[in-house]
Amino acid sequence: MAIVKVHDKSFETFISEETIQQRVKELAGMINKDYAGERPLFIAILNGSFMFAADLFKHLTIEADICFIKLASYKGMKSSGKVVTSIGLEEDLFGKQVIIVEDIVDTGKTLHNFLPKLMHQQPKSLKIVALLHKPEAIEYPLELSYVGFEIPNKFVVGYGLDYDGLGRNFKEIYQLV
Ligand code: 5GP
Repeated sequence: MAIVKVHDKSFETFISEETIQQRVKELAGMINKDYAGERPLFIAILNGSFMFAADLFKHLTIEADICFIKLASYKGMKSSGKVVTSIGLEEDLFGKQVIIVEDIVDTGKTLHNFLPKLMHQQPKSLKIVALLHKPEAIEYPLELSYVGFEIPNKFVVGYGLDYDGLGRNFKEIYQLV
């Protein structure tokens, strides 16, 4: 098992590149089926979801739009509890079928705070696709329509996810040792 060091911490391989890619393809397949004949708008949440959003989007065969927003509630390895928006949403969501793309749902707080803002614009539908979900960590229950992997409540990095800015470039997902 490969060990990588990020800042002061050691991480071990947790989900391989091949397994991630296979699952991303499956998630895209489900979305292609569920939204056949439609044109959903994907809202990818930066920074963490950039890699997942790009790979997911490549496997879509339906017509789809994508835009990016930035929300952050993490500093280092702990949720700061405060959700900060630094790049706003310019799209008008009225009557649209919206799919939020999230790297990981941990406590659920980020999306819990953000969803009412989106619902206010009266989209036709609003679903969430999350690559990772930590069921044991959830404090704000959310309906997740598509989940890549349910994982234990341990800090992970890689495939877009960082530890204090580093580790986003790894093709695999690593778990704290
Ligand atoms: P939540 O609001 O659900 O507690 O946290 C969501 C955000 O926290 C994610 O979008 C992600 O940026 C960050 N996060 C949660 N768990 C982890 C983790 O294990 N590793 C990393 N790198 N970020 C995480």
